[in-house]
Amino acid sequence: MERTGGIVYLVGAGPGDPGLLTRRGAEVLSRADVVVYDHLASPRLLDLAPVSALRICVGKSVGHCTMSQGEINALLVEHAREGHRVVRLKGGDPFVFGRGAEEAEHLHVSGIPVQVVPGVTAGVGVSLYAGIPITHRDAASAVAFVTGHDDPDSPSSPSPLDWGALARFPGTLVIYMGMTRLESLCRTLIRLGKPATTPAALVQSGTLASQRTVVATLADLAALALEGGFGPPALVLIGEVVARRPALNWFEGLPLFGQRVVVTRPLGESDLASASLEALGAEALAAPTVTIEPPDDFGPIDGAIARLDSFDWLVFTSGNGVRHFLDRLKSSGLDLRALGHLKLAAIGPATAEALGRYHLMADLVPDSFRSEALAEALAPRVAGLRVLLARADRGRTVLKDELRLIAHVEQVAVYRNLDAREIDPVVLGRIAEGSVDWITLTSSAITERLHAILPVEARRQIGRSVRLASLSPVTTATAVQLGWPIAAEAKTYTWDGLVAAIVERVEVDRERALDARDHPSVRPS
Ligand code: SAH
Repeated sequence: MERTGGIVYLVGAGPGDPGLLTRRGAEVLSRADVVVYDHLASPRLLDLAPVSALRICVGKSVGHCTMSQGEINALLVEHAREGHRVVRLKGGDPFVFGRGAEEAEHLHVSGIPVQVVPGVTAGVGVSLYAGIPITHRDAASAVAFVTGHDDPDSPSSPSPLDWGALARFPGTLVIYMGMTRLESLCRTLIRLGKPATTPAALVQSGTLASQRTVVATLADLAALALEGGFGPPALVLIGEVVARRPALNWFEGLPLFGQRVVVTRPLGESDLASASLEALGAEALAAPTVTIEPPDDFGPIDGAIARLDSFDWLVFTSGNGVRHFLDRLKSSGLDLRALGHLKLAAIGPATAEALGRYHLMADLVPDSFRSEALAEALAPRVAGLRVLLARADRGRTVLKDELRLIAHVEQVAVYRNLDAREIDPVVLGRIAEGSVDWITLTSSAITERLHAILPVEARRQIGRSVRLASLSPVTTATAVQLGWPIAAEAKTYTWDGLVAAIVERVEVDRERALDARDHPSVRPS
């Protein structure tokens, strides 16, 4: 693409759940040369930028503030002047209490083109994920977004806000940055006339797995929040709408709400996998242990494609195999008609589905999705015939070894599996601090690789704060051999099966916890 000059996109990242980024935001991220972000942004959003993009963290959360606003402005100008497409990713919406307007003004003065992409602001997204409608025909016809940054009680630096007017405001009060002054904010509102019995809520880390909500009256909110150990980022909601929560609390009721899950599948496969976890309320973190690359040498695959006529069966053992083989077929100037005479086999439903995306139907999918079962199912149908196996450059050789006894088998590597050298440090930090609940293991190779590269602080959490979920008995056996206990194993050996196993385990735990609460064992006094 032609590069005439730099540009800065101020992009609203939403309040946390990466699914809340707009399509426009995803689009500009996917073409970014430089991404400048702060701590509120989900690490998953950064995966949307090209691998080659420079990622710069500028802090902005308590204790992590690494750059002043002036330095951030200078950084944006500098990279844009170099002709780069710079994405400035900001929590929530860029123009709601985010100093986005100041950044845009500075860029304007510096002669740098700016575009702004809206985001879901915390006042809208966080309240909704807490089951609190900020307007309701019967309860509130107006909303005020308020900053609680300035202390209404402080004589030395008085808040520029008219707290008397806010106390009388006939609608919902949504207070940003109010956590540290919560007690003083609530007291001031009551003193200036807001009924002490007004329903109020505090929502911490809204839209994320770590979301926590406390509901109280305006008089009690600060004490309950303190007692519950609540901390920033948190949003305060005050008004009759808070009382609507019991019927509208959809998010905290999802089967995997509160579960943080690390997905170790290769990039390219992890997005869909993460989406199915997120749909159930979990937070997914990508930590690929293996990356998928085109083969080093296209010779063997091109050779096989040139001789497709001579084969009877084409066998796929992964969705990646399907995609890479069919992409190469296309670059060779051929289309699906070149496969017309072939029977197709897929190791399992996910691989069959990958074929389906090319309008191809598998002639054979074994009941149990493993190499042994595929070899057994194929054996009676391929005797004396020619079989082409399209697969990764490494992995188990069961299939080839078994079929070679009865058929002419040719195996070609259509893609490469490369070991990741390390796990994303953000994800590692979360594992080590004990805030990850699950790590998924979807193959023996992934399990072995993870075991090899997981640093000791993170490894120590396995079997303690972190549990392991395995895709199949083969994967489980590998984990157990390495000394890792498996807490959930898929009954059907697919990603959906693995997710179902986690859901089942989480439900059992919740029932046990409820049981323990309802029937506490008698404690010695
Ligand atoms: N531009 C952002 C707001 C920045 S000010 C937006 O539009 O949302 C930062 C404040 O936003 C925090 O102090 C907190 O009050 C609120 N906030 C942001 N993300 C939040 C989250 N996930 N949960 C609760 N509050 C959040």
